[in-house]
Parts: sequence; C-alpha cells; structure tokens
Amino acid sequence: MGTDVPALSALVPELDWSTDAIVGRRNRYYSASQRAFVPYKTPLILKTGKGQYLWDERGKKYLDLLAMNLCISVGHAHPRVTEAVIEQAKTLSHCTTMFYHPVPAHFAEELAATMPKGHDWVVHFMNSGAEAADLALLMARSYTRRIDFLAIRNSYHGATFGAQAMTGISAFRHDVPQLPGIHHVANPDQYRGIHGPTLDPYLREIDDVIGTETSGRLAGIIIEPIQGYGGIVPMPAGYLKGAFERVRAAGGVCISDEVQAGFGRTGTHFWSFAGYEVVPDIVVTAKGIGNGFPLAAVIAKREIAESLADKFYFNTYGANPVSCAAGRVVLRVIDEEGLQDNARVVGQQMLEVLQSLHRAHDIIGDVRGRGLMLAIELVKDRRTKEPATQETAHIFDLSREHGIIMSKSGANRNVLRIVPPLCLHADDVHFFADAMDRCFRSL
Ligand code: PMP
Repeated sequence: MGTDVPALSALVPELDWSTDAIVGRRNRYYSASQRAFVPYKTPLILKTGKGQYLWDERGKKYLDLLAMNLCISVGHAHPRVTEAVIEQAKTLSHCTTMFYHPVPAHFAEELAATMPKGHDWVVHFMNSGAEAADLALLMARSYTRRIDFLAIRNSYHGATFGAQAMTGISAFRHDVPQLPGIHHVANPDQYRGIHGPTLDPYLREIDDVIGTETSGRLAGIIIEPIQGYGGIVPMPAGYLKGAFERVRAAGGVCISDEVQAGFGRTGTHFWSFAGYEVVPDIVVTAKGIGNGFPLAAVIAKREIAESLADKFYFNTYGANPVSCAAGRVVLRVIDEEGLQDNARVVGQQMLEVLQSLHRAHDIIGDVRGRGLMLAIELVKDRRTKEPATQETAHIFDLSREHGIIMSKSGANRNVLRIVPPLCLHADDVHFFADAMDRCFRSL
C-alpha cells in the first residue's frame, strides 16, 4: 500500500482566496464537527484586521462587535502584541514546561497579581477555555475527594468531555454518556428564568438540588457571572454570594468561568466575579487573555491546586512562550491604554443606544449586559416572550450588509451579542446605532 505523501507545493500552488475554492476545500476536507458551526447564510471570508475593524477579501470594512468570539481584547493586530509575538517567535517558539523559561514565569506572577489580595494564587497555563474548565473541575474533585458538582443551566464551558458535561445547552451536549455527578441548577435569568426576576427561589433551587440529587457533600460549582454564549445573562446581585455560601457549606469549591466576562470586559472590574463581591477558589480564563493567540489559564488557590501535586497533568503546549508573550503585553495594554475604563464608558454609550432601539422597536424584548458585554433579545411578542428566531437571523444577516459583525446566540438563537474589542470608540457606537435602526425598520 502506497503511503507516499505528495509534495505540499504540488497540492497548494498558491493561496486561493476565491469563495468557491475556500468553500469547496472546507466542504471537502473539514470534518462535520468543524464545518457545522457557521453564522451567516453566505460565507464571510476575512482577510485583515486592525483595532475594532475587519476587512473581507474584497476590501469591505466591518465593525467587529464579536471580537472573534471575544478573543480579541485589545484590538486586531495590536502592534505591541504583534511585536512581542514576533520577537519571541524569532528566538524560541516553544519551550514545554519540562524546561524553564522566564516569559510564562513572569506572566504567572502578573496574572496572580490581578487576583484578590490575601490569598496565595497559582497558575496553570493551557490552550483553550474548555481545557481550563476541565482542569478546574478536576482540581475541585481532587481537592475535595468528592464527585457531586453543580453547574448552571444555559451555561457554556466548552466542548471537551468535562466542559461539555458542565455546559447547560443541549445543542453542545452530544449523544454520549456525559460525565457523571454534574447537576444543573435553574438559571437565574431575570428575563426568562423559571422564577422570573427574583433571587431567593433560584437559591432555594440550589438547596433542593444539593438536598435531593447529591450526597449532600459537594466538589464544587462553576458559574459564568455573566453567561456568554447563553445570551449575555448576568447573574442577579446576590446570586454568586448565596450560591458560594451554599456550596462551601457543603464542602465544595467555587469556580468562576471568566473566559468571556474577564479581562476588563465588564468595565467596572478586571474580573467579573469582583462585581458580585465574592472571591472564588478557582478562576478559568481564556480568549481575551491572548488577544487571539491560543492561551488559557486556571488560576487557583494554592492549597486547591496542590491536590494534583502527586500526579502528572501535562499540556504539551501549555505555557507556550509566544502565547504568554502576547498575554503579558495584553495585560500591559489594558492598563496603559485604559481599556477597562473604555469598556465602561463606551459600553454605557452602547447600552443607551440599545435602550433607545428597544423603545423604538417592539421586536426587542430585552436589553442587558455590563460594559462591553451586551445583548438584545428579540421576541415576537413582548408579553409571551416567544423567541423571534427567524427575525433575529434576518437582522443578523442584514447587519452584515451594513458592515457590522455581531453574534447570534442563546439557546433559541434570538439574542444578538455585542462583545467587541475593548478599544471600541464612541464613533463606532453612532455608526452601529444608524445601521441597526435601518435594519430594524426593514423588518
Ligand atoms: N467558557 C466560556 C464561558 C466560553 O464562552 C467558552 C468558549 N465560548 C469556553 C469556556 C471554552 O473555550 P474554548 O472554546 O477556548 O475551549
């Protein structure tokens, strides 16, 4: 049997940017698992990015309100990030954690310094949010030596087996036996939640689940303080505090999934849990930490992370110096360019635009979010809240024609998510307001 591999130069004479060629190659060579998740009816091919803008292969400009799924925190092709990455790649592109290198070591110290004082924080670097969520779950179980673990319905934590089992949206849960011992509690969604806009009934649901579905002794809980993919659903004030108290009383540890809401995005705090006046035991972070370079981290209290000391947990690409070099600069740029504050100020301007769209267009049922993590939810009827899924798809495709990239999300795919790079400008907000008003008027 021949195993000869043809020379790559024979396979790809030169990059073919034509739509047909790209679509053809993807359809022919991408696995369904990588092909299925596409937003627009017709493909959007992207060629260049700068700041909060993107250009397609024909040179059409877009305002990027999705930030490549929130990965681009400080702006596309930020010159300082690019320079740090090039410098590191020129010297050493990888150094596995079996060997020593100062870049990730410095970055671990710098990340630990962003965490609440008075605790001994340690860091484990890896490549994706799902990997980090998996490790956080493993740490919780190793430390407590318990299995039962809580997650919130409508949450998203990633695609790997562990992260998928914690995820509370069926579209991301596959027909395989899910990891045992994960129990989902009611989502305290103040717009659509089963108990409406309240707090205590949702906390009582936690008591009920602990009291009925678990041994009464917990490994922990994972919460996105603001659910991201689920449609920008902020946990109500007091929920994290009440949930953490209950979980800790049952012996568990508390994990904040900051993959979307962390890194200054909420405007008021660097970590979104800080807006809820709690201190988690473990933080999961990814996406914006690397401004597009593959990077994730678990930040944990030392005594919890120490529970894995007598086993190996090795990520070949963990603590990659090129990604960590990007991460170090991202932290500096957020600080020096005042991007967290920008998220607060421009986020407020954007929220006001969304509120005025809400007043003008009945199809908008709800407007919500914090900082530059915002959403509008579309409904057929404000009273019944029936999701306007088709209309959302229509507005979404139309907004692209007006030069806007957003995300269509939520379990009913009726939420338009606005999660741009943190360098969004007031002029962009005006541009968005005009374009969206025209889109909604066309319905
Ligand atoms: N947690 C949250 C809150 C996320 O939004 C995501 C990704 N959408 C993940 C975890 C998983 O991250 P990744 O896709 O990098 O594995």
